Amino acid sequence: MNAFEAKLSRRLLEIQQQGLYREMRPVDGPQGPSLTVKGRPLINFASNDYLGLANHPAVKAAALTAVERFGVGSGASRLLCGSLAPHRALEATLARFKQTEAALAFSSGYATALGTIGALVDKDDVLILDKLAHACLIDAARHSGASLRVFFHNDLNDLERKLKWARQKCDSSPSGKSPAIWIVTESVFSMDGDVAPLRELVDLKERYGAWLFLDEAHATGLYGADRRGCAAAAGVAGHIEVQMGTLGKAAGAAGGFVCGGRTLIDYLINRARTFIFSTASPLPMVAAALAGIEILRSDEGEQLRKRLWMNVRRIHEGLVALGWDLPPAPSAIIPLRIGDEGEAMQKAQALWDQGIYLPAIRFPTVARGQARLRLTVSAAHSDCQIDQLLDALRNIDVCRGH
Ligand SMILES: *Cc1c(COP(=O)(O)O)cnc(C)c1O
Repeated sequence: MNAFEAKLSRRLLEIQQQGLYREMRPVDGPQGPSLTVKGRPLINFASNDYLGLANHPAVKAAALTAVERFGVGSGASRLLCGSLAPHRALEATLARFKQTEAALAFSSGYATALGTIGALVDKDDVLILDKLAHACLIDAARHSGASLRVFFHNDLNDLERKLKWARQKCDSSPSGKSPAIWIVTESVFSMDGDVAPLRELVDLKERYGAWLFLDEAHATGLYGADRRGCAAAAGVAGHIEVQMGTLGKAAGAAGGFVCGGRTLIDYLINRARTFIFSTASPLPMVAAALAGIEILRSDEGEQLRKRLWMNVRRIHEGLVALGWDLPPAPSAIIPLRIGDEGEAMQKAQALWDQGIYLPAIRFPTVARGQARLRLTVSAAHSDCQIDQLLDALRNIDVCRGH
């Protein structure tokens, strides 16, 4: 073993010793409510394909048609020669869906956060981030070079303390500079499934003259009368400076987007480095995302959403009956908190042995000692699959903190 490999091996060993070693499970066949792993069927409670659109016939057909008409690769960055009809159609549809002037599509949600925050936030600015924000928001915040503050998860009092400090700092900055204060958060949190108090956040940021960046990755397609997300559901979408979302969750495809005014979008086209210096998304993926968004907007989307919430309620009630202490507001992301990393892994394995795929989530995705089984619900789960889940959970005698 050479020095390079020896160093990596030592690091891997440390990861293993902490119970934090990760490996991928090779899945055969398509992703869906059930998976096949080494010829064995498993019911899948790990996917963010909340409405089952990843294998929807219209989504698949859109991808196939796009391959026939446009091929696969975009050839270059959008600014070079890669702005093809499907990209433009997707953005027009996203803007219509979110009722904004314009939209900009990125190759992933991660790239969206990195590029957008990087373009908008200056090193003289203050950026205040929710403690449980997604890794891409944390990375983007750090990368921006702004003064970074973290507020306790969804804690408006703590946020206000930090806003006060930020206001003072900005007001006393040298003349000629006008640093901005940014609040960066998610609407539905990816590991806890709870929802940010958006009305109060908007009220606070207006009182302190701050700007809000909101990631609706897990809300798009699921919340609000027209499924535009939590901001629309709370009636505050028009008061949020930047809204981003992803296309790989409820929309069933892949990619990310920002929706907003024409000026914001034109600025991002000029400044968002993950947009400028990256090959435009493959055309079949763009067409699939567009088809997914069209379904979200349709009556079928509403039916699927109803089915999802029915499934969520059934699982939530079943878990409460089993003695789990759950957040009161049911969500399609249900954290089954275990705490200890090793124990979470054992429980996940015990469920796996009963044909249930419900993965353990550990540090660094969540804090140390806060390992959990992260259960995600889909409209595509059948009643029978839900019964099997609840039976398996009953069997493994999962520790519930008592
Ligand atoms: C999944 C997720 C992302 C990243 O989106 P990708 O398209 O998977 O890169 C961004 N933000 C949040 C909150 C997410 O959960």
